[in-house]
Amino acid sequence: MPHNLQLSVCVFCGSKTGTNPAFVGAAVDLGTRIAKSGMRLVYGAGDIGLMGSVANAAQIAGGDVFGVIPEHLLQWEVGKRDLTQFIVTETMHERKKVMAMNSNAFVLLPGGLGSLDEFFEIITWRQLKLHDKPTYVLNVDGYWDGLKTLIDSQIDAGFVGEFNREFFTFFDDVDALMTALDQLA
Ligand code: AMP
Repeated sequence: MPHNLQLSVCVFCGSKTGTNPAFVGAAVDLGTRIAKSGMRLVYGAGDIGLMGSVANAAQIAGGDVFGVIPEHLLQWEVGKRDLTQFIVTETMHERKKVMAMNSNAFVLLPGGLGSLDEFFEIITWRQLKLHDKPTYVLNVDGYWDGLKTLIDSQIDAGFVGEFNREFFTFFDDVDALMTALDQLA
């Protein structure tokens, strides 16, 4: 990536906060550090759950935040209109496409089915050579250990290639994740 461009980091995360306070802690830490590193946060423009935590932290730290939300979720996910850029799409698919097009790297924080959908879609697009951007998983307190085990078993069973491992990297803490992101900037 050319050095004069701002790195855009797309964060996929829960529309709930989850039961472990470490999840909100990690989201706030990541949002703050993305902003302080001069990177732009790209996310689903909601003001609830970890989505709200990461975005509010980035804003408080003075960062740029680019949010994309489909019209039908404006009320449900509490569309956060005070972002640097706030984009309303017609559909969920359009939301994911706009987020992906405007990002250089993807991060999966703890989350639910929607976060998993976003993670799998982005690594599937990479498998299909539609992009070559890295995806990082923040494995807060081992929350994503089950995901790691699932993918390992898919590789063992021959449905996923060993080479697909290079599409995503697991990190145990925000420090290690930020080191990887800094190397892209
Ligand atoms: P969740 O991880 O389920 O809390 O959802 C996190 C985010 O993913 C929210 O912004 C959801 O709107 C979004 N999401 C939920 N389901 C889907 C889906 N099928 N495709 C894309 N995004 C989704």
